[in-house]
Amino acid sequence: MNRILIAEDEPRIAAFLEKGLRANGFATTVVEDGDEALRKAQSNDFDLLILDLGLPGKDGWTVLEGLRGQGEELPIVILSARDDVSDKVAGFNGGADDYVTKPFRFEELLARVRARLRNSNLYKGQQPEMVLNVGNIVLDLRTHQIRVGNSTIELSAKEFTLAETFLRHPGQILSREQLLNHVWGYDYDPGSNIVDVYVGYLRKKLGGDCIETVRGMGYRFRK
Ligand code: CA
Repeated sequence: MNRILIAEDEPRIAAFLEKGLRANGFATTVVEDGDEALRKAQSNDFDLLILDLGLPGKDGWTVLEGLRGQGEELPIVILSARDDVSDKVAGFNGGADDYVTKPFRFEELLARVRARLRNSNLYKGQQPEMVLNVGNIVLDLRTHQIRVGNSTIELSAKEFTLAETFLRHPGQILSREQLLNHVWGYDYDPGSNIVDVYVGYLRKKLGGDCIETVRGMGYRFRK
């Protein structure tokens, strides 16, 4: 299991990241200031750091500089509201591996985290899990294709992320709120029925009985 250190002082964003990453099989730890981020990032307990730039104590730039200055190779993904090209360039020049601007969609962050881990895992000679399989459904995270039996099914980006979320938790009840947070992001209206609409799309494409409605609780992907 990959371990992600999250340095983020805004509780809502930290909680959103933790929830989403855990739902995708990562172990997470949140730190709220730069000093703690620097200390923890050097502990060898983590595989990747998500680093907010505006942190109390040492800011993100100082943390980045501190880590790379000491030759620390931990992959670092900067997460920042600053979307100036000059900030991004400074981030990459400072040794960050990627730069995501807020507001962000969880699926984009997840894709970038996976890509950075893949690079570093290949470097270390490990293979991350890239194919999910439940019953006759096979989802390939490298090609973004899904197969049901022998046929390849076309899915939109949102449908794919929703399918991936279900396939990572077969047999578990996932609430609408969990699915909404995970696939659409924290800035989405919780009163929306978009989850139900997309579950409908997936049922049509993957087979009507693969996703069960659990009344008053949410949805469950059948094992
Ligand atoms: Ca901040």
